[in-house]
Amino acid sequence: MTSTPLTLYNSLSRSIEPFQPIDPSLTRVYTCGPTVYNYQHIGNMRAFLFADTLGRVLRWKGWPTKHIINITDVGHLTSDADAGDDKMEKAAAAQAKSIWEIAAHYTDAFKHDVARLNIVPPAEWTVATDHIAQMIDFAEKIAPEHCYEIESGLYFDSTSVPDYGRLARTISDEGESRIDPVSGKRHPQDFAIWRKSPEGEQRQMEWDSPWGRGAPGWHLECSVMSHQHLGHPFDIHTGGIDHREIHHPNEIAQNQAFCSCGDSGARIWMHNNFLVDRGGKMSKSTGEFLKLQVLVDAGYHPLAYRLLCLQAQYRSELEFTWDNLAAAAKRLKRLVQAIEHFRTDEAGTADSATAYLMRLDEAVSDDLATPRALPVLEDMIADKRLPAADRLAALAAFDAVLGLELSTLTRADLRVRPANATLTADAIDARLADRKQARIDKDFARSDAIRDELAAAGVEVMDGDPLGWDWKLT
Ligand code: AMP
Ligand code: ZN
Repeated sequence: MTSTPLTLYNSLSRSIEPFQPIDPSLTRVYTCGPTVYNYQHIGNMRAFLFADTLGRVLRWKGWPTKHIINITDVGHLTSDADAGDDKMEKAAAAQAKSIWEIAAHYTDAFKHDVARLNIVPPAEWTVATDHIAQMIDFAEKIAPEHCYEIESGLYFDSTSVPDYGRLARTISDEGESRIDPVSGKRHPQDFAIWRKSPEGEQRQMEWDSPWGRGAPGWHLECSVMSHQHLGHPFDIHTGGIDHREIHHPNEIAQNQAFCSCGDSGARIWMHNNFLVDRGGKMSKSTGEFLKLQVLVDAGYHPLAYRLLCLQAQYRSELEFTWDNLAAAAKRLKRLVQAIEHFRTDEAGTADSATAYLMRLDEAVSDDLATPRALPVLEDMIADKRLPAADRLAALAAFDAVLGLELSTLTRADLRVRPANATLTADAIDARLADRKQARIDKDFARSDAIRDELAAAGVEVMDGDPLGWDWKLT
């Protein structure tokens, strides 16, 4: 069933390439993880949904896969380059907490969102601060030929490796303008490997090193952890397209320096496009931002957001609107409803669901074209010729690839109570039973009164809804 060769877009070659694992017994994937100074917004979660789809497709193709996602708890400054404060230090100061408390809180929140979105947990969550000694070793190895020391720390000389920045698209305009000048740097693109704590200032997170007491630069951690946990070169490195401009070119430069070769550390570099809203790219700098819990509080199941993301190919920009989310939630409800129906269908006559699985395979093998896989799923579910047992078996395969949990998801699961709802589901059901009795009694005044009462509590009664939903929260 997995007969179509897998092709993936490689940002490094800027082309779609056939994929074959370096070692078919273990495909190795590294995903740049969250900086745990704040909640992840739903745009960030798009990056992890994309990486999850990739991991699921690799396993579907029959390749056991080791996936690593890191937790950044040190070094990421308020600009992606070398200026500003450490995001963690800043958040800790603002919330009057220790950095460790901040990191623990937002790491837990992130893992909770990962679970709610049905993202397969990685083989390991590698934490940056658990790798300080390895980062110092790595830096000591590359320092003599590739780094120089200035007042503020140890810097990587970007001209010391061939073809620095070849991954980036906008390094000459937007990319470079984001690199703030640091006095003493030889070239604007040079970046910190180790940042010394300023004289007389004590940071919450600092360690001794051959270059003084301080903290590692952000880019170092991913080179070190990917090398330690996956080995270089590994198969695929992923992240959002913002990482294509600074973070990943810097990782590549470090990897080249470390191996004293031209190798970028990973065969394929893949980047998801942004989730945008009307104001542009979703980001955390604007104060209020959308995190998964906001969608849940509004009455949406997290998997409706997963479906929204699957409706777009990962390299396309995806616009978030509440209407788009509502449409995805409706599509999910229809799927669940249709599956409930076919569980009781009479046996069909068709042989098997193989043709549908081949179409699923074709879609996801084409650079993870999930939007094309969804209609195949809908066709399969609606195919009355297929015996229910075959449809259920095929559903398990679609679940494995798309992660929508349709084999177990029920209507009750999808009925998420908005945070501001005043009635419990049981109370609503009880009032609806009263109303039904009133209608049997032909007491329409009473039936209407109950309907109005429920409407005032944010519950819309849906008489004769074709999907069979009795009510919904408005
Ligand atoms: P951060 O916690 O800022 O390091 O980001 C975590 C991941 O989210 C990175 O892979 C980013 O590239 C990605 N990302 C950031 N903003 C967006 C967005 N609006 N849409 C999609 N991915 C994003
Ligand atoms: Zn990274």
